[in-house]
Amino acid sequence: MLRRALRLRLGPCLSGRGLGTYRRGSTLDWDGKVSEIKKKIQSIFPGGAWNPLYDTSHLPPERSDVVIGGGVLGLSVAYWLKRLEKQQGAIRVLVVERDHTYARASTVLSVGGIRQQFSLPQNVQLSLFSAEFLRNINEYLAVVDDPPLDLQFNPSGYLLLASEEGAAIMERNVKMQRQEGAKVCLMSPEQLQKKFPWINTEGVALASYGLENEGWFDPWCLLQGLRRKLQSMGVLFCQGEVTRFISSSSHMETASGEQLTLKRIHEVHVKMDHSQEFQPVECAIVVNAAGAWSGQIAELAGVGNGPPGTMQGTKLPVEPRKRYVYLWHCPQGPGLEAPLVADPSGAYFRREGLGNNYVGSCSPTEEEEPDPGNLEVDYDFFQEKVWPRLAQRVPAFETLKVRSAWAGYYDYNTFDQNGVVGPHPLVINMYFATGFSGHGLQQAPAVGRAVAEMVLEGHFQTINLSPFLFSRFYFGEKAQEHCIL
Ligand SMILES: Cc1cc2nc3c(=O)[nH]c(=O)nc-3n(C[C@H](O)[C@H](O)[C@H](O)COP(=O)(O)OP(=O)(O)OC[C@H]3O[C@@H](n4cnc5c(N)ncnc54)[C@H](O)[C@@H]3O)c2cc1C
Repeated sequence: MLRRALRLRLGPCLSGRGLGTYRRGSTLDWDGKVSEIKKKIQSIFPGGAWNPLYDTSHLPPERSDVVIGGGVLGLSVAYWLKRLEKQQGAIRVLVVERDHTYARASTVLSVGGIRQQFSLPQNVQLSLFSAEFLRNINEYLAVVDDPPLDLQFNPSGYLLLASEEGAAIMERNVKMQRQEGAKVCLMSPEQLQKKFPWINTEGVALASYGLENEGWFDPWCLLQGLRRKLQSMGVLFCQGEVTRFISSSSHMETASGEQLTLKRIHEVHVKMDHSQEFQPVECAIVVNAAGAWSGQIAELAGVGNGPPGTMQGTKLPVEPRKRYVYLWHCPQGPGLEAPLVADPSGAYFRREGLGNNYVGSCSPTEEEEPDPGNLEVDYDFFQEKVWPRLAQRVPAFETLKVRSAWAGYYDYNTFDQNGVVGPHPLVINMYFATGFSGHGLQQAPAVGRAVAEMVLEGHFQTINLSPFLFSRFYFGEKAQEHCIL
């Protein structure tokens, strides 16, 4: 009861040290209030060592590791920061999320897939670790006295189909995937026809099929499991929107004479919900895990505001791109053995549940990119672009009936459709975990670990993600991922 009263009094984001609320020009002294309340508690429990407030007396004064974005990537970074901290309680982590209903967050609008079939070894390694994490979720995210998580994991291979043109690339990719430890087989059109007789193999020269560690699961369950675990680890949550950074600058000149301004963020301003008030939060580091909006957060921190062609002028090339997902019913459609099928035309589908329901879609071309200003669904896109491709590949889909649909945002990296992980070279305490362009959910467990390693150790320890650093945008070195659905 007392715990609850304190939580209500302090609010979910004020139970730590050094968070002040700015109101009409004055900062309330929360530290003073907290210590006053502590004294009161001690007088109620004289001599008791029990302290219901999060004790932060041993922390470096006033500073938090602030994670912007409470989606799966932000929560994973927070998890690994706490898990890898050298001494329990050494790091104070605050997750700032503007919408705890996650109405527009990519995590909960995704189709929940995990696969090992990528064109870059780093992406295979990331997904292999994530598969291990998901398999042992109740060890990683166990909370005493709470029921185990049920991710609703549906093990099923991805079946990627290649035309004559793409066959050699597919063969190369599969060779690399196997070298990395993924279990993937290649199938000729004849083998394909035999295993999945409902597929029309016209135009298919080769197929690759995942034998292990692939399938789909409930993203909401993963998100809630992470959140629950973080609360048990003492991570703080704050509902509000990051609107501003306060930073200091120093100047230097490179060997080639380029002027550089190094920035360090000292304070993050969080605008509280339905209010003009903001809360200044002093920070040690800032993790930009704002998903499709991470480009805007980078801009707020001054990333990319220098002259074009310079490091200072290099933007974070991540923007929201709207993607539709359609759910249809087809009594004559493929049965339980149906994998996730990705057609060379770009269309994909998988089974949803057991009642001959399916979800799927197709990414638009650059020219067809819809306006990302809202999340309305375009049913004509299904009629004109998706359905003909599906029906060409699976003739039974001629008779399908669309039941519902939704849209979500890819955190789309326009440079090379791949993740951005690690620190910014000039805003020296901003770290990225973003830009995964449609595969960020499945890679979140491994990416969170990579970012935490970078923050705590200064380098990647388990998977070398150097090709995913921000600096590649300046140097023009693409880490192009070709297997994007
Ligand atoms: C239709 C669709 C299908 C997909 N399918 C898959 C799939 O099968 N497998 C897969 O691995 N991936 C898939 N993805 C991609 C995956 O969903 C994303 O890569 C991943 O969820 C990104 O996670 P995130 O935490 O970065 O983003 P989000 O979940 O979007 O979280 C970012 C959060 O930041 C918050 N935020 C933004 N700005 C601010 C601010 N200024 N202040 C405070 N908070 C802020 C937002 O409110 C949001 O909640 C799919 C995506 C879509 C749209």
